[in-house]
Amino acid sequence: MQDLVIEGITVAPGQRVRASLPALELADGTVVNLPLLLINGVRPGPRLYIGAGIHGDEVNSIALVTRALATVDPQELSGSIVCVPVQQPLALQADHRLPLAQFLKSPLDQVPADAWTCFPGAADGNIAQVMAATLFRLITRCDYALDVHTPTRGGRYVPIAILPHRSLGPSAARAEEMAQALGTGWIMRGEHGMYIADGILCVEATRAGVPCFTFEIGEGGRLEAASVETGARCVLNLLRGLGMVAGAPEAPAQSHVMRDFLGIRATHGGLLLTEVELGAAVTRGQVLCRILDVYGEEVEVVRAPEDGLFVRATTLSTVSRGERVATLGLL
Ligand SMILES: [Zn+2]
Repeated sequence: MQDLVIEGITVAPGQRVRASLPALELADGTVVNLPLLLINGVRPGPRLYIGAGIHGDEVNSIALVTRALATVDPQELSGSIVCVPVQQPLALQADHRLPLAQFLKSPLDQVPADAWTCFPGAADGNIAQVMAATLFRLITRCDYALDVHTPTRGGRYVPIAILPHRSLGPSAARAEEMAQALGTGWIMRGEHGMYIADGILCVEATRAGVPCFTFEIGEGGRLEAASVETGARCVLNLLRGLGMVAGAPEAPAQSHVMRDFLGIRATHGGLLLTEVELGAAVTRGQVLCRILDVYGEEVEVVRAPEDGLFVRATTLSTVSRGERVATLGLL
């Protein structure tokens, strides 16, 4: 096995190294560093990129990848791992999806503000574009990639693998095999929406020949032991599926492959009461949630417009007209 050399950092076979990669300079000269966890195995195998925390309130993603990788023994690993547990440190500092301080100060220059949507990035661009370019440089040094998320604050997903569009060819097909190995039991092979749009991390990685998908789990804005444990188990399944760690991936009890998300929005403002359990199969017309006004009167009954699976709940206690109250996965 050879040394793993990433951005001038050398990791000998059988070694695990924590490092920092300078990514941005702030007004006072403070340098924002990307934390890196580099693991080089002792046997040949693929190089896997694992990214988390590109949205700053998605802390389960950070905790689950580091939990999974803590159990990986470099002396038993085939291939190598390049992990960036916090892909946008400024957003983590804000404990928000976006790096709010810079966005509020310079809203004109800092749009787009979400690095996740800015791939492959631009080294001469704004903060989001610079971060994306730095991350993309790491991603394209690898054979495979995984981008781990938690829904942003106010939402809760079932553990779900969200694929890039299959029109991206063989790399997209390989990404689907990776998603099967992850073993969450929930796979979205969507035809529409933001997850498959140009500029999204997994879309541009896959387009560049690095098969990648998005993994969403748990709830934003909080750290949850159960989500961390489930997610870590899934990441280890992926390592097994890629032949990097011994053993076969654990298969889920049941596997749902869905064709699209259907987001449902409130038409009235009020207090949100969700009645359906996350992950449940629902039928057209079934009550999903109710909206009460501040006097306790029911102002809206939200019903499933189609049969589907209740894959993402809104956990906000209040909603305004136009806010999403539930998301179904359509089979
Ligand atoms: Zn996210």
